[in-house]
Amino acid sequence: MIKCKKCMLIASKYIKIQEDGICDICHEHKPELLLSIDFEKKVKKIKKQSKGKYHCILMCSGGKDSVSALLTIKEKYGLNPIVFTFDHGFEDSTAINNVIKACKYVDCDSILRRYTELKSVFKVIVKENIKVSPCSVCSMWYMIKSYELAKSLKVKYIIAGWTKGQMSSKENKTEYMEMSKDTSDFIKNRMRQIKGFEKFPLSMDKINQKYGKGIEVISPHWFNSDISDNEKIELIKKTGWEKTDSYPKNSTNCIFNFISSYIQLKCYGYTHYNIEMSKLIRQNQMTKEQAQEKLEFSKNKDFLGEILIKNRICDEKDWDIYCRKGNF
Ligand SMILES: [Zn+2]
Repeated sequence: MIKCKKCMLIASKYIKIQEDGICDICHEHKPELLLSIDFEKKVKKIKKQSKGKYHCILMCSGGKDSVSALLTIKEKYGLNPIVFTFDHGFEDSTAINNVIKACKYVDCDSILRRYTELKSVFKVIVKENIKVSPCSVCSMWYMIKSYELAKSLKVKYIIAGWTKGQMSSKENKTEYMEMSKDTSDFIKNRMRQIKGFEKFPLSMDKINQKYGKGIEVISPHWFNSDISDNEKIELIKKTGWEKTDSYPKNSTNCIFNFISSYIQLKCYGYTHYNIEMSKLIRQNQMTKEQAQEKLEFSKNKDFLGEILIKNRICDEKDWDIYCRKGNF
């Protein structure tokens, strides 16, 4: 595996590494891609444009990024959000409790919705050993849910706790090309045969066009006034926030994320976290060594099997078969 010596992206059909050992993305990187305006200006616009009860939807997973986003927009900028948390059946109870505690602390309305429909998709991916990133499919699915909620509440802004590494841009598209292509193929050839997903859009662009018209998705962490990880933890400590066991290290993700990361590493040699962190390295927000440490995957097969069996993605007999076939 050839890696870019600067950002550690792995060479692929879409990512070329030049003779100097540095990838095209690093060579073409322009720092001005970041949002240079202050979040304060954005807030003024949000307040001016809001007609309903809420200024925005705040997507909250219970991790440090989204909880600190909630505290920032409510306490520092005086926005009135409705907090939206979805549980597709794999949310960590510590993370859900973090959301409840944070909402109580800032005293805002919230919606927690549990859906079981995505499990049937995950089951197919695991059973049929499909080369796809389950996280890509899930992110498309939850954006539809968020847009639908925004529309029903007549809210024009969805605020997420995404970091600068999760910012969408043109350069992003090249890095995700390999996974996006497989995601579209999977949706077209397999996922649409699953009940409830017959008309599922083939790409995030299609979702933005179909569901996201007139709705802007932003994160306070994309702006100049962004705070560091330690400052985020310092800020949210007062809500009673607790850390969860997650991949990458010191993040908060759902429990299926361990499976998804394993599948991505097996299929591609990297996960979407490698892409996010390569962006942070390029923007001098993280060092190569810090990324390397966070990205180390240390969970063994037994741990993964336990997650799948406990959450009824497969039973013990199936798990034995998957292991014997070499899927895990
Ligand atoms: Zn690079």
